[in-house]
Amino acid sequence: MARSTTSATAHSCVIGEDMACAHVTPGHTLDLMRRRLAAATPSRWQDALVTAVSGGVAELALLESGRVLRVWNHEAIGSTVVAGDPVALHGVYGVLAAGDSWVSVRELD
Ligand SMILES: [Zn+2]
Repeated sequence: MARSTTSATAHSCVIGEDMACAHVTPGHTLDLMRRRLAAATPSRWQDALVTAVSGGVAELALLESGRVLRVWNHEAIGSTVVAGDPVALHGVYGVLAAGDSWVSVRELD
């Protein structure tokens, strides 16, 4: 039986030699370049409130537009944010800022 090559999802992580996720795309490891680009474009941060957290998914309500969206991280995002937390989302580079913590996230919808 042939193995399907289409079953791999964007949620799968490739583990590198240091046992950390080897992806640097939004939702995976936040690399220095993306961190610097996000920091260099402060006008693109959007204030939001966390409305729900489940596994690697957090639901956010953007304060300015009222838009509700979900973001995903490859690890349990509940270790960084809980419902009710004020956060900032960088929509261009996929960074969620919660206090001093920056997490790489991918918008799901
Ligand atoms: Zn990953």
